[in-house]
Amino acid sequence: MKTLAQLKRNTEQWSKIPHTKIDKKTGKKVVYNDDIVGRAMETNAAVIKVSSSRQRGVDTMVFVVRCRAHTESVYYDVVIELLPGEVHKDVFKMPSEQSPCWVKCSCPFFLFKCEYALARVGSSEIDYSNGKKPIITNPKQFPILCKHLYRATDAVLKAAIQQAKNDSRKYNFEK
Ligand SMILES: [Zn+2]
Repeated sequence: MKTLAQLKRNTEQWSKIPHTKIDKKTGKKVVYNDDIVGRAMETNAAVIKVSSSRQRGVDTMVFVVRCRAHTESVYYDVVIELLPGEVHKDVFKMPSEQSPCWVKCSCPFFLFKCEYALARVGSSEIDYSNGKKPIITNPKQFPILCKHLYRATDAVLKAAIQQAKNDSRKYNFEK
C-alpha cells in the first residue's frame, strides 16, 4: 500500500513526462502531455462524509468527496481511506501525507489509467474497470491519481486531522 505522498509524487511526475498514444484516425503515434496536476487546479472537492471502517483489520478513516472540474457536467465520487500508523501499542500517528492510503474515483480517467495500477500496489481494488492491464493507457502501470483524487487530498487531510482531534478521547494520537 502506498502513502498519499507517494501517489501525489507519482502524479506530479506523470504530469511532466510526455506520453504517446495511437491517433484513431491516422493510426500514427502521437506525443501528448497529461497534465493531471494542472487540471486538478480547476477542480472543486468537498468532503461530504467522514466515517471509520474496520474492514482492513485496523480502524481506518474513510472520506467520501464530491468532485467536479468546471468543464465537467457531472460530479464524481471520490473515496480516500487513510490507515493510521501505530507508533507503539495503542498510540497512533496523526494522519498526514505519510499515511498509507486506499483510493478510488468514479471518473473514466481512473477506470482506464489508474485502477489497475493502484490495485496492483494495494492502494485500490478492481471495481469500475474490467481488471485488464492498461497496456495502452498506462503501459508501465504507474500508480497515479486522477485530477479529482489529486485535488481531494488537501480537503481530506484537513478533515482527517480534525477527525483525529475529535477521536483523541477514544484513541491516542502522538503530539
Ligand atoms: Zn477522477
